[in-house]
Amino acid sequence: MEKTTIPFALPFIDDEEVEEIVKTVRSGWLTMGPKTVFFEEELAQYIGVKHVVAVNSCTAALHLSLIALRIEKGDEVITSPYTFAATGNVIAHVGARPVLADIECDTYNIDPEQIMEHITSKTRAIIPVHFAGQPCDLKEIQEIAEDHNLWVIEDAAHAIGAEYAHKRIGTFGDTTCFSFYPTKNMTTGEGGAIATEDGKIADRLRKIRLHGLSKDAWKRYSAVGSWYYEIEECGWKYNMTDLQAAIGIPQLKKLDWFIETRRRLASIYDNALRSNKDIVIPAEKPGRLHVYHLYPILLKTFYRDIFIQKMAQCGINCSVHFIPLHLHPYYQETFGYKPGDFPNAEQVYEQEVSLPLYPGLSDENVETVLRSIEEVLRNNE
Ligand SMILES: *Cc1c(COP(=O)(O)O)cnc(C)c1O
Repeated sequence: MEKTTIPFALPFIDDEEVEEIVKTVRSGWLTMGPKTVFFEEELAQYIGVKHVVAVNSCTAALHLSLIALRIEKGDEVITSPYTFAATGNVIAHVGARPVLADIECDTYNIDPEQIMEHITSKTRAIIPVHFAGQPCDLKEIQEIAEDHNLWVIEDAAHAIGAEYAHKRIGTFGDTTCFSFYPTKNMTTGEGGAIATEDGKIADRLRKIRLHGLSKDAWKRYSAVGSWYYEIEECGWKYNMTDLQAAIGIPQLKKLDWFIETRRRLASIYDNALRSNKDIVIPAEKPGRLHVYHLYPILLKTFYRDIFIQKMAQCGINCSVHFIPLHLHPYYQETFGYKPGDFPNAEQVYEQEVSLPLYPGLSDENVETVLRSIEEVLRNNE
């Protein structure tokens, strides 16, 4: 019998997105324009923040945040080793040093005590990563930042719609960066956004996302715009386009349902795996809304790589998040990191498997994943 494959991640797209894209194509306005501005307004309202600046990726959002906050050569920025390439690479892009601080063993988020240990006279900012969609210890992190006069730039690639102390992520840090990559909790194809309460930071971000041109330079192509612009500083080409915003607008309307569905499916996994002696299920800390971008389990008794291989043979695609930054050649060669530097991140990495989780996954699919896990673990000799 032909086995159906359950993919690891899938975006949820329906007719609403298709119709918006067609309307946008027919409007003739394909690059950044009125749709992007509308998407920014809707997103700001959803988050409950004053300003949102849409860009072409979360990587660009993080990079522009560092530039807008004037972090540069010789500075140090503290972040988690347990993250994607983007978080560390952008620190290197501005010439600063990515200073890694180990994670907590329950949430896999950066440990505030480890942040404290790594602060020096060169530290300028902290980039906490809300791993898997669970907010970091923001109260502790904000206290550290205030005491040491540091910026907080949140990597919220996993955490759109997540809450901390009953407020949405995006209302805490100096800037908060979101990703709309297809596997993330909502998508624009590729895309990202920066949320901030600070009007001056927002103005600078808007300028440097488009070559450093004077205000609203994109309007120069419209009927109301003027041909005149000034290059006020040397910026980047990081703008979102209206085609991307056309996907984002209906996605945002579905976001609460996406989150509810992810949380419901995660609780099915939780209930089935909680008492399994071979598996550690993800912890949910009180006082925060976890949006389950990922469902990461730890394998206590079974080799991770073999588990993933056997699951694939059952037609279930799993993944691993993340290979810690300090284990990559670039980070070792450039910054002198080595295996053993961050034992918690390494231990979680060695045992971690991310199970399929997305709004289009049916309850039957989840049952199939659970049956396959039992089967794979039963044959552990
Ligand atoms: C996906 C991801 C990013 C990068 O997002 P892009 O939109 O692809 O640039 C950054 N940080 C983390 C933790 C991610 O998972």
